[in-house]
Amino acid sequence: MNYKQLQTPSRTIMTPGPVEVDPRVLQAMSTPILGQFDPAFTNIMNEVMEMLRELFQTKNKWAFPIDGTSRSGNEALLASVIEPGDKVLVPIFGRFGHLLVEICERYGAEVYTLKTEWGSVFEQQVIIDKMKEVQPKIVAVVHGETSTGCMQGLDILGKACREQDVLLIVDAVASIGGVNIPVDEWYIDGIIGGTQKCLSVPAGMAPITYNDRVESVIQGRKKVEYGIATEEEFGSKRANMIRSNYFDIAMIQDYWGPRRLNHHTEATSMIYALREGLRLVLEEGLEERFARHSYHEAALMKGLEAMGLTIYGDPACKLTPVTCVVIPDGVDGEKVRKLMLEQFGVEIASSFGPLQEKIWRIGTMGYSCRKENILKVLQALEAALIRNGFEPKRGEGVQAALDYYDVPSYVLIKEA
Ligand SMILES: *Cc1c(COP(=O)(O)O)cnc(C)c1O
Repeated sequence: MNYKQLQTPSRTIMTPGPVEVDPRVLQAMSTPILGQFDPAFTNIMNEVMEMLRELFQTKNKWAFPIDGTSRSGNEALLASVIEPGDKVLVPIFGRFGHLLVEICERYGAEVYTLKTEWGSVFEQQVIIDKMKEVQPKIVAVVHGETSTGCMQGLDILGKACREQDVLLIVDAVASIGGVNIPVDEWYIDGIIGGTQKCLSVPAGMAPITYNDRVESVIQGRKKVEYGIATEEEFGSKRANMIRSNYFDIAMIQDYWGPRRLNHHTEATSMIYALREGLRLVLEEGLEERFARHSYHEAALMKGLEAMGLTIYGDPACKLTPVTCVVIPDGVDGEKVRKLMLEQFGVEIASSFGPLQEKIWRIGTMGYSCRKENILKVLQALEAALIRNGFEPKRGEGVQAALDYYDVPSYVLIKEA
């Protein structure tokens, strides 16, 4: 056999996910497996639920991860509430808005969209006006749009949805744990977070939470799987049953609830990882964590601008953990990324669709969001630009970031 023991190169990952994982999370993942109904394990599941409620700043009864990457959370929530023919309104301002449309269509929704130029977001009133016109059952919207580095304001939309009896479902995959999202205060009915972004846990789970308005919709569609249903439930097959078995939240919540009715086999090592990731978030403190994300974002932006580069998008709606940079004219963006990775071990991202080859995206998420990484990415980018036909202001990027870091952080955080 020719395969050597697994060994990966050392990397500085500054993409908008997956990002570097805190060593304490990696350590937790190597903890021995427990059986899925072992009280020692179900106790860990309960702790994960409790910590998720704190992360989402909610009193919701239900908060648990869907097993699968982040989009599995989007699909689970949407599949469980959408019945064929339901009207869903989706405001689109980047790639992940299109993903919401894609999922809604597959479950038979009648989808209405609002569009705006990539690099900007919507005035919430525009969404509210459209909602009054369309009268949808659901508004599904992205909070932090990773493809454009923009963040949609949501603080008044939820209240308007509640008044119109519309469900508000939010994709906060890129923003949860990096930006303040008070779920209950904003009247969000269902929300999806990501692990491999600001939580700094590997990809493979999607934490969600939803309130009793969502629960009452899914309870009305409940069909327990053949083979585990009781005699009574057996007769309950409904014409409007949830069209996915794997993403049937009505069944998954029975697995996470006191009944412990088996659905899938819980992904033990990922639960360990998520538990430790959440514990680290709460140990740091939500406010402190959000402040840390803003703090290093500012250092990065100062460095990039001092170098002579332009930040992409409307600054008024900038997404804190993702900074998009305009690729200068005549520069091959992919060559720059390749050099940074090969020579410095530093990874940044390109973008999608209309922004491909137009911008780079630099993530400052979770464990990757720290001073040494900011300095490395500025240094590597400068070197790669010089070798690819762009003359930056040499040395200025790293110096500007160092100047910024020279001021004690508590002063800067206070000012911000
Ligand atoms: C990354 C991301 C997703 C998709 O996550 P996967 O883990 O790749 O499934 C969905 N929505 C947003 C906003 C994202 O940033």
